[in-house]
Amino acid sequence: MSRTTQLAAPRRPTRQIHVGSVAVGGGAPVSVQSMTTTKTADVEGTLSQIYALASAGADIVRCTCNEEEAAEGLAHIVPRSPVPIVADVHFHHEMALAALDAGVQGLRLNPGNLRKPEEIRMVAAEARDRAIPIRVGVNAGSLHPELYKRYGGATPEALVESARMELALFAEVGFEDVKISVKASSVPLMIEAYRLAAATFDHPLHLGVTEAGPPPAGLVKATAGMATLLAEGIGDTIRYSLTADPVEEARAGRQLLEALGLRERKGLDLIACPSCGRAEIDVIGVAKAAQEALEDRKLPIQVAVMGCVVNGPGEAREADVGIAAGRHKGHLFIKGKIVRVVPEEEMVAALVEEAERLVAEGVEARLAAADAGAEAEAEADRRALLDARGDDANHAGEKVALIRRRAGHPHPER
Ligand code: SF4
Repeated sequence: MSRTTQLAAPRRPTRQIHVGSVAVGGGAPVSVQSMTTTKTADVEGTLSQIYALASAGADIVRCTCNEEEAAEGLAHIVPRSPVPIVADVHFHHEMALAALDAGVQGLRLNPGNLRKPEEIRMVAAEARDRAIPIRVGVNAGSLHPELYKRYGGATPEALVESARMELALFAEVGFEDVKISVKASSVPLMIEAYRLAAATFDHPLHLGVTEAGPPPAGLVKATAGMATLLAEGIGDTIRYSLTADPVEEARAGRQLLEALGLRERKGLDLIACPSCGRAEIDVIGVAKAAQEALEDRKLPIQVAVMGCVVNGPGEAREADVGIAAGRHKGHLFIKGKIVRVVPEEEMVAALVEEAERLVAEGVEARLAAADAGAEAEAEADRRALLDARGDDANHAGEKVALIRRRAGHPHPER
């Protein structure tokens, strides 16, 4: 419902591949991926995690295929999954072939640890015949030792060369249905590697900061790397690699794309003021209560919680709906216009109710249903608060005057 400003940089043109029903690259919406943490042989456990990931925003889910039981699990999982499944394969090309037999919609191969050219060609030929795409998933931590030696470490050039060598093997069997990742746990290295990959290949790119770690640091690292590239138009599908419940990865992926205006808002965007000396409520507590009450309702709107009616409705006028605290009251507003005044203890409940009605009935209808007198009551509260606390609720002016007095400033009043 909220209008989103688009990023200035145009998306990098790439060829397009399809992971099942999800198009990747070639102007398709940037997709969100995550990976299950269950044993793939545990069909019901894995499916239940896949459903949770899909519901949190994942468009594609990857499962490990590390043993025969996992491949057999995939044969049961793929037909019942709500999203396309990619099999993650390391070391054993037989597992890639078994995953294809199981019906997966994509493969991920790591060139650093699946190294025999004849095996790579065999997998690519099989994927070609079944029209199944492969991600060439280069990883700085598992770079081929020869490349490590040749480039003196896991440099951007070494990572891109690893992908190029794999593509050359694929080309020998006429297979081109490929996306590429060049992940690293170092954010600057990952950014440079992807920039080089974007300049080298026209394949779609799968972004990620590998082994980013637990939140919040892991979230910050992954966001720093992926958002930088996305803002430059680079990246066609993304994955947060967090040491956390993978549902957090999917949710973060979706939220990043929505925040950058690359995907339409599907869920709630709760904004809240940072609070200050003017706050009439515990902003953190009310924002938390509103988040908890609203988050499972999947309302595609921006909701604001503001600490005071003096500045709140104006500062959050772009929000679809919000609440600002007055003197023991909550001032409910839609697009900055006050529509209702409620007792302080009913603020969260009133906000939730208005958010639901707004989505069901639309902005015009809810503005038309505004309480007569709400605007005037809010203005009276605003005036009273201004009179009580003046223009400088944080007493910044007094503090500045004190600093200047101590410093012997010649014009303390200025
Ligand atoms: S002035 Fe009001 S809305 Fe702005 S930060 Fe302070 S309490 Fe929040």
